[in-house]
This record gives sequence, structure tokens and C-alpha cells, in this order.
Amino acid sequence: MIKCNFHTHTTRCRHAAGADESYVRAALAGGFTTLGMADHTPWPFASGYESPVRMLPEELPGYIASFRALREKYRGQIELRIGVEAEWFPRYADWVDRMSDAGVEYFILGQHYADSEEEYPYVGSPWAFDDDHVRRYADACALGLRTGRYSYVCHPDLFMRHRPADSFNAACEAAADTICQAALEANVPLEYNLLGLSLQNGDTTGYPNPAFWTYAAKWHNKAILGMDAHKPEALENTALWQRGIEDLKTLGYERVETLEIPVKE
Ligand SMILES: [Zn+2]
Ligand SMILES: [Zn+2]
Repeated sequence: MIKCNFHTHTTRCRHAAGADESYVRAALAGGFTTLGMADHTPWPFASGYESPVRMLPEELPGYIASFRALREKYRGQIELRIGVEAEWFPRYADWVDRMSDAGVEYFILGQHYADSEEEYPYVGSPWAFDDDHVRRYADACALGLRTGRYSYVCHPDLFMRHRPADSFNAACEAAADTICQAALEANVPLEYNLLGLSLQNGDTTGYPNPAFWTYAAKWHNKAILGMDAHKPEALENTALWQRGIEDLKTLGYERVETLEIPVKE
């Protein structure tokens, strides 16, 4: 049996809790065989803007070193992979290459801003769900996927976070089409986000959004579960994991259980 989660944060992003090692221990307790760390990527913002939701560029080496040391310590018990959850901001393309050279082993596409956070609002903001912004978000995801850099699409339906349940309109359908087609061409799965699922409590707004996943099923993308853990104990929620498996079956998606990610030393 394998059980792999590639979406895990650390306190460096300023909105998560728990020591690095606590995440590894919680993953073991939750039965995971592979734990992928994907904290919110740093960006070298040219304007000097300091983001409240991600690590600083100078924190990246310590993040990599910490999980390399934990990889050694827990060798034989769990596989660790060191990645980041990153947007695709074309103006900072060079920085993505530099992070890869610095030891980042994989990137998952969490397009929280249509373009640089210096200038654009959070895609999941209640005030950012106009149709034009939905289109920009989807186009940004597709651009990112075309780079071939990304291993999967985090919460592709992020734009539904604050849209009313019945507002999955033509613009949303077009966005779903754009993202699904680009993910197919890049041969990467869509993430069924379990943090979002844990917050829904039967509500039909937010993500994973039933309207999105039902509409998008026609593309036959593969899907992967992502814990999006912002606290260690989230990794021990086996009932939530099982619910994700059942939901994907019901929605008609084939599940990808793992990703092939080479270790960098
Ligand atoms: Zn986060
Ligand atoms: Zn995340």
C-alpha cells in the first residue's frame, strides 16, 4: 500500500503551525509512505513587496536543509520530497530555475494570483470573482502548465472559493476547459484539495467545488488528493483522506496515487 501527499506547508509561510519534524511524525501516524513538502514559494519581488503568506527568498536554503536532514533521519520509514507550491509569474521565470538549481525537487501550481502578488488580488477573495478575473486566472494556470515545470494543479477551482454556489457560469466553464485542457497536455493531474473539503461542511460553495468537478469530468483528467496541510495533525485525518477517495470515485475521476520525483542532494 502506498499513500502519498505532496502538499504540505511549514511555519515559514506565516500562516501554518508546527515544527518541521512534527509534520514528518504526523505523516507517519497518518500512514503516509511519501510526504512531499510544498510550502508557499518565495518570490524575489522587484518592488520590495513583502508577502504575508509565503517564506522570504533567504529562507529557502534553510527549508531545503531542514527537510534534507529529516530525510536522513527518517530514512527507511518514510520518503520525503522537497518542493514548493508556486504560482507562475512570467516576470520571475528565472527565479523558478534558480530554485530548482538550489535543490527544490518539484513544483505544484497554486495560482493564488493571476499575476504577481505585488499587483493582483488573491484569486479566492470575495471581491475578485468577476468573470474577467476568472479568465485571467485560468489563462495564468495554462501558461504555467505549458512550462512543463509543474507536477500538478493545486485547487484548480480556487476561483469558486467565494462565488455563490449557483454562479458557475459560462466564464467558469471556459476557465475549467482552459485548465483541464492544459493539464492534459502537460500530462499532470488536478488536485482534489482536502483542506478545502474539510472546511466545507456540506456547503456547496468553496472548493473542491461540485459544479467545477462535475462539469470538468468530461475532460477525463486524472486527479490526485492533496492534504494542503497547514498544521501537522491534519495529516492524521484518515477519514478525510477516505472521503476524498470516495468523492473522486463518485465524480468519475481516475486517481493518481503518486508522482515520480527524483531526489536532489
Ligand atoms: Zn497556505
Ligand atoms: Zn497549499
